[in-house]
Amino acid sequence: MQPKDLLYLAEQFGNPLYVYDADKIAFQYNRLTTAFAKVEKLRINYAMKALSNISILKLLKNLGSGLDTVSIQEVQLGLHAGFTPDKIIFTPNGVSFEEIEEVAAMGVQINIDNLSILEHFGAKHPKVPVCIRINPHVMAGGNENISVGHIDSKFGISIYQIPHVLRIVENTKMNINGIHMHTGSDILDIEVFLYASEILFDTARQFKDLEFLDFGSGFKVPYKKDDIETNIEELGKKLTKRFLAFEKEYGRELTLAFEPGKFLVSEAGYFLAKVNVVKQTTSTVFAGIDSGFNHLIRPMFYGSQHVIENISNPKGKERFYTVVGYICETDTFANNRRIAEIHEGDILCFRNAGAYCFSMASNYNSRFKPAEVLWKDGKGYLIRERETFDDLLQNQIMVEL
Ligand SMILES: *Cc1c(COP(=O)(O)O)cnc(C)c1O
Repeated sequence: MQPKDLLYLAEQFGNPLYVYDADKIAFQYNRLTTAFAKVEKLRINYAMKALSNISILKLLKNLGSGLDTVSIQEVQLGLHAGFTPDKIIFTPNGVSFEEIEEVAAMGVQINIDNLSILEHFGAKHPKVPVCIRINPHVMAGGNENISVGHIDSKFGISIYQIPHVLRIVENTKMNINGIHMHTGSDILDIEVFLYASEILFDTARQFKDLEFLDFGSGFKVPYKKDDIETNIEELGKKLTKRFLAFEKEYGRELTLAFEPGKFLVSEAGYFLAKVNVVKQTTSTVFAGIDSGFNHLIRPMFYGSQHVIENISNPKGKERFYTVVGYICETDTFANNRRIAEIHEGDILCFRNAGAYCFSMASNYNSRFKPAEVLWKDGKGYLIRERETFDDLLQNQIMVEL
């Protein structure tokens, strides 16, 4: 998107504001399906926790996507957006048995990631097909908070426990129809991903009635200049070859599934905030904006570096700034960053604001959550209104004792 379009949207809808480029989401979706075009049955399940606005869900549904969900409320939002239950997979961790039962009863594919629930569920509902999530014990890259396939991770059933899984299956006569892994965000090296895939194939060989193999996600997108990006095209070539060979060996056609979040929506998103104050100190120049980790927590939570541009003065001479928020905490978005000269009132634009930005927003400091706009064919469509004071009061009960 062009700075002038973003500036116009900030004027039209106010700030702070999230903007999503519909064409970029479609572009990424098509990139992925093209990379795996040789796979007969490919299924992309958008991991909606990345960005769960129902208009975004609708957009992905119309592109042909399925949905990856982690809570029953996400399943309900997906159904509300028009997904049918057979297009949804439920991949929870640590949720109650009752929640899993309830989702299964809706006709949604469930994915179980621990032995205790697997045994309980198999004994009670032997006819309901179940996918199992394995932990291949592979460190995908990135840091510990986003890598979920390593040995200490709480996710998945250890591959060393597969004999126990097989015993549960035999005893309960339950039907395992899929094997799943998700090694976590930020795959730097596709060879590591391919190595984990071999572990998935090895596991799959031990189950006779599979319908699909789900390779999860973790595709990395560039956040800043010279960042490594997962090479989807090369992964497509190499994994397709291995998958087709495995299918032949297995003796039946299987669906290859992925569940990307960040890859589909991260780069489509822009976060716009206004500079309230430019403050010189003895050591730096602070640019304080009308936002904080209540709206965009990734820099503070994960240390992620979002590119920040001054779209009000794009041609200005670059200076060094520390960009901070208005929350009464240390909420630093960027340290010592070169940005075109900033004046109070300028609009700053944060890139890669599609994934895990709005969906992690809160009302901390009793601030309103921002509005969201979907951009398509040169026009901005409001897809979430800015909150108002009534939203802050909703569900609160004033008692005076
Ligand atoms: C979060 C999550 C994803 C999506 O991960 P991205 O890094 O955003 O692509 C996929 N699968 C599961 C099970 C997840 O929890």
